[in-house]
Amino acid sequence: MKQLQGLFWGLVASQAVCIAVDANTLEYWDFDVQQNRLEIVTENGVRPQASMIPNPTRLIIDLPGVSLGQGSVHQGDITGYVTQVRVGQVTPYTTRIVVELGRQYSMRPWEVKVRSLGPNRWYVQLAEFQPHSVYSLPVEDEPVAIMVPLPSPNSNPVYSPRGGYKVVIDPGHGGRDPGAIGIGGLQEKNVVLSIAAEVTKILKQRGIQVIMTRSGDYFVSLLGRVKRAENSNANVFVSIHANAVGGNNSQVNGLETYYYSSGYRLALSIHRNILQQVQVEENRGVKQARFYVLRKTSMPAALVEVGFVTGRTDNRNLKNPSYRKKLAEAIADGITEYLR
Ligand SMILES: [Zn+2]
Repeated sequence: MKQLQGLFWGLVASQAVCIAVDANTLEYWDFDVQQNRLEIVTENGVRPQASMIPNPTRLIIDLPGVSLGQGSVHQGDITGYVTQVRVGQVTPYTTRIVVELGRQYSMRPWEVKVRSLGPNRWYVQLAEFQPHSVYSLPVEDEPVAIMVPLPSPNSNPVYSPRGGYKVVIDPGHGGRDPGAIGIGGLQEKNVVLSIAAEVTKILKQRGIQVIMTRSGDYFVSLLGRVKRAENSNANVFVSIHANAVGGNNSQVNGLETYYYSSGYRLALSIHRNILQQVQVEENRGVKQARFYVLRKTSMPAALVEVGFVTGRTDNRNLKNPSYRKKLAEAIADGITEYLR
C-alpha cells in the first residue's frame, strides 16, 4: 500500500474539485485521549472500512461516499502512542482518516473495534495500551482488514442490552409544583415531562428497562423520587429539569449538566451528546452540585438543565417539539453510551 505514503494528503487543499451534488460530508471527528477512541460523524449514513498497515503502524479508516467537511484535518501529539490523526480526501468520494502510532508501538487488528452508534456515527475504539508491550504484525506491507459491523436502522449492535440495564428517568416537578415559569407562561414541568417521555421511549426501543418517577402531571416529592430509584436497583438515575433566572433576564440561555459524586462520567456523556447533536445556545458546562436527588441516590446520577424557560432563545427552542425530540435523542444517546 505504497500509495498511502503521503500521496493523498496534498489533495486536501484542492477539495473543491470533488463536491458531488448529494455529497455526504464528514461533519465531525475527534480522537478522544481519555477513551482512546476516534469518533466519526458524517452528515448521512456511511459504512467505514478499516484496515491496518505496519511500519509504522497506521490504522486506516476509509469513508466511502464521504467528502471532507469544514473541520480540521490534523490532530497531533495526541497520546504517548497515538502520535497523530490526519484526515484527507483520497478520491473525490472517499475521505480517509489515518491514526498513526509511535514507532515503538504496534497493534493487532482484533484490538481495534469499529462500533456503530447509528448509520452516521461511529466509534473506532483502540485497545487499552500497555506502554511496554510491543506487538509484531505480519511483515508484508499489506493492510489487514478489520471487521466493521453493518449498521441497521432498527437493531443497532451497540444497543443490545447485555446485563439488562435499568435506568430511572426523573422529570422534575409536576402537579401543584410547576417548576420554573418562563416567557409566555411556559412551565418547566411540562417541558421536562415531554422530553423525559421521549427519552424513555428511545431507551426502551434499545432494550433498556426504564422507570419514570412520574409519567404524568402529578406531584412527586424528592424523597419519593429517590425511593423509587433505590427500590428499583437501577444502574443510573437521570433527572431532567429546565432552568430559570430572575429579573426578566432573557439574555441568559444555555445547557448545564450536574452531578454530585459518582455521576460525573454519566453527566459528561449526556452533556457531550447534547452539544454534539443539538444546537445549544450556550455551553454552561458540567458542574458539581448538592441537589437532593443527586446526593441521596446511590447509583450514578446526573441532572440535566436543558435550557432556560426564561431565556429568549431557549424558550423558543423548548416550545418546539422537534427541538425537544432532538434533546431527548441526545440524552438517550448519552445514557446509552455511558452504559456501554
Ligand atoms: Zn427544576
